[in-house]
Amino acid sequence: MTSLGASIAVPEAIEAASQILPQFVEIGALQKYASRVIAEVCESEAGFVTASCSAGLTIAVAGTMTGPDLGAVERLPDTSRLKNEVLIQTGHLINYGAPVDQAIRISGARIVPVGQSTTGRRYQLESAITESTAAAVFVISHHAVQYGLIQLDEFIEVCHARNVPVIVDAASEYDLRRFLALGADICLYSAHKFMGGITAGIVVGKREHVRHAYLQNIGIGRGMKVGKEGILATAATLQAWVKRDHAADRQRQNANLVCWQDAVAGFAGIRTEILPDPTGNPLSRLRVSVDPAQAKVTAWELADLLSQAERPVIVRDDEIDQGYFEMDPCNVRDNETDIVAKTLRTAIATAATQSTHKPTPVHERRNRNAAALLNWPE
Ligand SMILES: *Cc1c(COP(=O)(O)O)cnc(C)c1O
Repeated sequence: MTSLGASIAVPEAIEAASQILPQFVEIGALQKYASRVIAEVCESEAGFVTASCSAGLTIAVAGTMTGPDLGAVERLPDTSRLKNEVLIQTGHLINYGAPVDQAIRISGARIVPVGQSTTGRRYQLESAITESTAAAVFVISHHAVQYGLIQLDEFIEVCHARNVPVIVDAASEYDLRRFLALGADICLYSAHKFMGGITAGIVVGKREHVRHAYLQNIGIGRGMKVGKEGILATAATLQAWVKRDHAADRQRQNANLVCWQDAVAGFAGIRTEILPDPTGNPLSRLRVSVDPAQAKVTAWELADLLSQAERPVIVRDDEIDQGYFEMDPCNVRDNETDIVAKTLRTAIATAATQSTHKPTPVHERRNRNAAALLNWPE
């Protein structure tokens, strides 16, 4: 989503940003106000706004290493005199556009992976904790392995038994309370994803831990600073989020999915399924599976056709090598539902008229993205 501008901002966020941009403010006081709003909405003790969830992860980890020592804050990423090991399950070592372990490592922390890609066991976590353990990070994401790993409640139980603080990366989760209620010391969210804020990250949790993360603003957090507009807009976004009619949103989204499903019904080699979000967000998506022998197009070629349409349709392509992509019903305006349906139908129909089809290997598409980056700005 980041490469698409993250989100369509809600009016409350835009209003708040434009109201504060022409003024001076005391940032400390503004962050104090944000702390009250965040704490109330998330039913926790304190919070603040930073540049992004990724920034939040870096400075939250940093805070667990420095504590209240301002000298240590200034010495980072030198952690030679600090506890500096951070535990994370191997199945959580994802890439959300950048590697999650890098966001942790740039604080100066050392990553200690726990378990294997699809295996996480209590004994592995217990055995990984040492005198040098500063924190443990738990990632909630559709990119993470969804089975075979230690669940959050047991993860917290094991860590807290040894006084290891737990940081939860919940960047894209709708639930702003559950992980903190389970005992997480710090929870991190993106303001600009499902909530529709402007680009920012939310750090929330227990007062001391949040304060120690906040201190990093005079250290490594400086390069991750958020502007006054991001702070106020995030507070406004949270207030709008709790007032939103989520049931009505869901109904509208489900109607989009059914519309798109109907649009492709009957095409040879195209199969659709409405699937719930893998991490339990109250949201479904349309999975479009493509049999290239019948449809005369591969899933990745179809995704490219959609992205090259006059009104580009960008699909979720994380698992496209499996022969399918997913369509997200969020952030689609009412008048856009039919445009998406028509674009989808046209692309599939055009492919079907080809007399022959020679599939392109999926790696070509993936490598093309890296090549495009290396060629930027041309
Ligand atoms: C998107 C995402 C991030 C990064 O969030 P930003 O606010 O864009 O920095 C971190 N972790 C997970 C699990 C994500 O999905």
